[in-house]
Amino acid sequence: MFVYADNAATTSVSKTALNAMLPYLTEQYGNPSSLYSFAQHATEALAQARADVAACIGAQPREIYFTSGGSEADNQAIFSAARVGARKGKKHLISTKFEHHAVLHSLKRLEKEGYEVTYLDVHEDGVVRLEDVAAAIREDTCLVTIMFANNEIGTVQPITEIGALCRAKGIPFHTDAVQAAGHMPIDVEKMNIDMLSMSGHKFHAPKGVGVLYVRKNIPLMNLIEGGAQERGRRAGTENVAGIVALAAALKESVDNIEANTAKIIPMRDKLFAELSKIPHSKINGSLEHHVPGTVNMCFEGIEGESLLLLLDSHGICASSGSACTSGSLDPSHVLLALGLPHEVAHGSLRLSIGEYNTMEEIDHIIEVVPQVVAYLRDMSPVWDELEKGQRPHLI
Ligand SMILES: *Cc1c(COP(=O)(O)O)cnc(C)c1O
Repeated sequence: MFVYADNAATTSVSKTALNAMLPYLTEQYGNPSSLYSFAQHATEALAQARADVAACIGAQPREIYFTSGGSEADNQAIFSAARVGARKGKKHLISTKFEHHAVLHSLKRLEKEGYEVTYLDVHEDGVVRLEDVAAAIREDTCLVTIMFANNEIGTVQPITEIGALCRAKGIPFHTDAVQAAGHMPIDVEKMNIDMLSMSGHKFHAPKGVGVLYVRKNIPLMNLIEGGAQERGRRAGTENVAGIVALAAALKESVDNIEANTAKIIPMRDKLFAELSKIPHSKINGSLEHHVPGTVNMCFEGIEGESLLLLLDSHGICASSGSACTSGSLDPSHVLLALGLPHEVAHGSLRLSIGEYNTMEEIDHIIEVVPQVVAYLRDMSPVWDELEKGQRPHLI
């Protein structure tokens, strides 16, 4: 049996998205910047996609900028706010310890350039505290950037409250909503969001296309210089087919959020319930504030990498940290931010399920994971010491 349980890394393209984009790869290949009527189809498709995306998040079409993906949207939001801030002598930013690397590495670059960044704790439950945000705000804070839902553990942050706080202080608020868009309702007005990043391939659109929402009164600086596309804010001939697919996939996902959630939750809960029966295992992150499909657990005495390889041999695609760091032997920065010891963080497993998964697939996972964990523990010298009481169990 083949089970794709890594939807937080990427998703398959939906039939709706594929059908929507195909004409723009074949007959309707005009460049939206061209003046002849043939290109008008592309221009109109672009305008419709912009309006559809805006409607999905409660924004206005002119507040939507199409990018090459979530990473670019995060980079542009952060570097733009930093440059705007510097002009007013404001060179302090606030974020968290468990952001995606697209955010963290952008902030690291700013630190090298003389900016100061406060990285907030996310506590054991993986949720940022509003008081911590309030306490970190300074006179010279030019941006608060806090992710909507974490990509490794699935915890959701108090976005509306953080947004309200930033609004009251006059500080722009950006959120990386790549894991939330299409999976949870988002309303940039009600949630007091000034800038928001999305990525198509996390909600059944193709890879290589994303969105940066920027509230109309927030200045936006360019990351890429060139032509006048995206109202001069993001140069480069538009990825028309990808953008059309993104809009179709987002609309389809948003229209089906309730139905999809109702389908995913029982599968997720069964995974948690059954896998928690494995001795010395631990669920990572609060289940109270959570996206529907992400399951993250640690199993003491094993290596996540070995677990993934064995799961792969049973047809199961899963992940141990974010796709970007798997392959490196460092434990996940997200799990360390929760305060997990290195030894425990090494034995992590992320299963991220979506509406295309079935209960039969979940049953397959539930059958395989305990066997594989037991097998790896049998071979593990660390587990041997734990069992003999030569070292204490940490979970
Ligand atoms: C996947 C992901 C990104 C990066 O998006 P790309 O489109 O792959 O560049 C950024 N942030 C989060 C939270 C993600 O899950």
